[in-house]
Amino acid sequence: MLVIADTSTLSTLPRETFADGMAEVIKTAAIKDLSLFELLESQNPEKPQNLEQIIARCIDIKRGVVERDERESGERRLLNFGHTLGHALEKHYNYTGLSHGFAVAVGMAEITKASENHGLTQEGTAERLISLIKKFSLPAEDSAPVQDYLSGVMLDKKRAGSNINLVLLRGIGDSFVHPLPVNELAKFLGVEAGK
Ligand SMILES: [Zn+2]
Repeated sequence: MLVIADTSTLSTLPRETFADGMAEVIKTAAIKDLSLFELLESQNPEKPQNLEQIIARCIDIKRGVVERDERESGERRLLNFGHTLGHALEKHYNYTGLSHGFAVAVGMAEITKASENHGLTQEGTAERLISLIKKFSLPAEDSAPVQDYLSGVMLDKKRAGSNINLVLLRGIGDSFVHPLPVNELAKFLGVEAGK
């Protein structure tokens, strides 16, 4: 695996592009690494001080996950945190107007609020995640209500009658896969299905 991470280029990125990339960094910390999450919380988002360290940590985590996954632990699925709803939201906007990172940020926030409501996630986790998302100028919700874009997941023919593997947090830095029948997803998210 070859990864090029030039942090001097990062600091010259437009604010939105930088925020977009930070969504995957926040995701990586949220699923695997409380201390990285805390490091992100301590950053000045206008001028992050520890970018090289942050990026190196993300690369390490991802490499570890992928390597363990190759031994069939299925751990790679955890990297999909926020992506079920994120992809649905991107699809809702026909992949224009909303960047991948922004959609994933919304997805992470929404799924964590829901899992916390179901007692699957330690209380306060969603609030903490959402404040980090907002700190890096990412959205924690979209103007479209969840039921409007949920159909993108629900109506996917391949998934009809099958399970969806939701990635949830037990707490910050600790994630797990929660299989759920697709037709229970709307209920899980506390919305009406099929608009
Ligand atoms: Zn992604």
